[in-house]
Amino acid sequence: MTAAAFVVGELGIYTCPGCKRLLRQEEEAFRCSTCCHAYPIRESIPDFLGEELSQSKDPELRRMRFIDRMARIYETRLWYPLILNVYGGFRSASLAQLIGRISQNVQSIKGRVIDIACGPGTYGRRIASPLKEVFGIDVSMGMLQQGAAYTAKEGILNMHFARARVEALPFEDGIFEVALCCGSLHLFTDTVVALREIARVMKPGAILSVFTFTAGRRGILKFRRMRERCRRIGLHAFELSELEQYLTASGFTDFQPEASGSILTFSARKKVPGDPV
Ligand SMILES: [Zn+2]
Repeated sequence: MTAAAFVVGELGIYTCPGCKRLLRQEEEAFRCSTCCHAYPIRESIPDFLGEELSQSKDPELRRMRFIDRMARIYETRLWYPLILNVYGGFRSASLAQLIGRISQNVQSIKGRVIDIACGPGTYGRRIASPLKEVFGIDVSMGMLQQGAAYTAKEGILNMHFARARVEALPFEDGIFEVALCCGSLHLFTDTVVALREIARVMKPGAILSVFTFTAGRRGILKFRRMRERCRRIGLHAFELSELEQYLTASGFTDFQPEASGSILTFSARKKVPGDPV
């Protein structure tokens, strides 16, 4: 059985990002029977974006065009420790600690997990298990391919990768028990648009577990001028009150933040009918 056949045959979960209808599987693509659009499967990874980042008309996607090349160093000392120390502050939290916190937030939950902007599955593949089927999405094919290589090498069967953007997730409403969003919420063009789309695919009461940056007391993000400069290049260091507002506006409640320097991990819960407004 080829890797592509595994992805297509076993899951039957992907929907057309436009029509939100379940897609029909073909040999090398998923096809929408409503709008007839075909989404290719490249090296076993469904591609719902269908364009090169460097060629995109969308400036936000073009800005991400270098990310493919970072895939090989993303989980090495050349990336995470550097970013965490510079932005979060010296000795704020390590990648291992972040993975620990995120995993703990979702430890007792069984079912489907969506890993938003999953990179090479840095968080998702560490919680994937027969009890937690993880679906990672990212705009970077380089990151996704690296993730697929890691999962193959590590023998992880319960993590799946697809190329899609957070604003147009290729899934039906309300099917995930957990959403992870680690290292990317601060990069989305419109935080509320992204959070609303994440909430759409989550079940009522499902847990959102996030690592992002805040205007904390350590690292370069403690300086207002540096935060403004980061904002101009697309990195948004959140104030806690601002983030809580965004979450409420997107249908989440129960905001539980934990800051370490300027590094923020938090969990929140998708509202269920009857929750206080
Ligand atoms: Zn369609």
